Amino acid sequence: MRTTLRCPKCQGRKIIHVPVVRDNGYNRLMIEYRMGFFGDQEYGEFESYICRACGYAEMYVKGAPAINVDQIDGATLLDGEKDVGHPYR
Ligand SMILES: [Zn+2]
Repeated sequence: MRTTLRCPKCQGRKIIHVPVVRDNGYNRLMIEYRMGFFGDQEYGEFESYICRACGYAEMYVKGAPAINVDQIDGATLLDGEKDVGHPYR
C-alpha cells in the first residue's frame, strides 16, 4: 500500500499514513526498546499504512538495514538469499 496506494485486500484507494505509531500509553512503538541512530538517521520506529475502507494495516520499521537483530528478544534474520531452508517449515 505504501507504494501502490491501493489496499491489497479490498482494492480501497483511501490510505491513512501514520508516520509514528504509538501504544495507548502514547509511547512510540519501536522494534528495539529504545530509539536507535545510524549516523543522524533514526531507526527502529514503526510507521503504518491503513486502508480507510476495511482497516487492513501494513507496518514498516524505519531504517531496517540498521536494526541489530541480536538486540531483539527472539528475533532471527531469515536470509532468503542463502539456501539454508526456512527454520519454521
Ligand atoms: Zn481495504
